[in-house]
Amino acid sequence: MTTPKAIIFSKNQIETLKKYSEQNSPNEACAILFGNNTDEQVIIKEIFLAKNIDESPVNFTISNEELIAAYGSAEKMKLDVSGIFHSHPVSVPHPSSTDKKYMEINPIPWVIFSNINDEFKAYIYNSGIIQIPVKVL
Ligand SMILES: [Zn+2]
Repeated sequence: MTTPKAIIFSKNQIETLKKYSEQNSPNEACAILFGNNTDEQVIIKEIFLAKNIDESPVNFTISNEELIAAYGSAEKMKLDVSGIFHSHPVSVPHPSSTDKKYMEINPIPWVIFSNINDEFKAYIYNSGIIQIPVKVL
């Protein structure tokens, strides 16, 4: 995937992700974002809320079962897996060293929400961590 110029959410999607992050606090919340990877700008179409099996305030893991289910429903909806979302309940929305490691393995947009400053930021790995503007339409 090339580096998109922006990642675009609807107001409702932003509210859904914020609410889910608050519900999961003090642990990290996670979700899989569906869209269309052919777009120069990634427009998020659907959100697949996932369980953080680590139940940790500093890490997240999505089970293989849920990953398989997510890929299955993306395919049914003729959408691509366009991003990975997780929250940072106790820190700013910058990738942790663990995040950076997994971003390199999985070079699609990573969206991080911080519960402490109510901010969404997106990044992608492309020979280094690059920030992608988050837009709300
Ligand atoms: Zn993180």
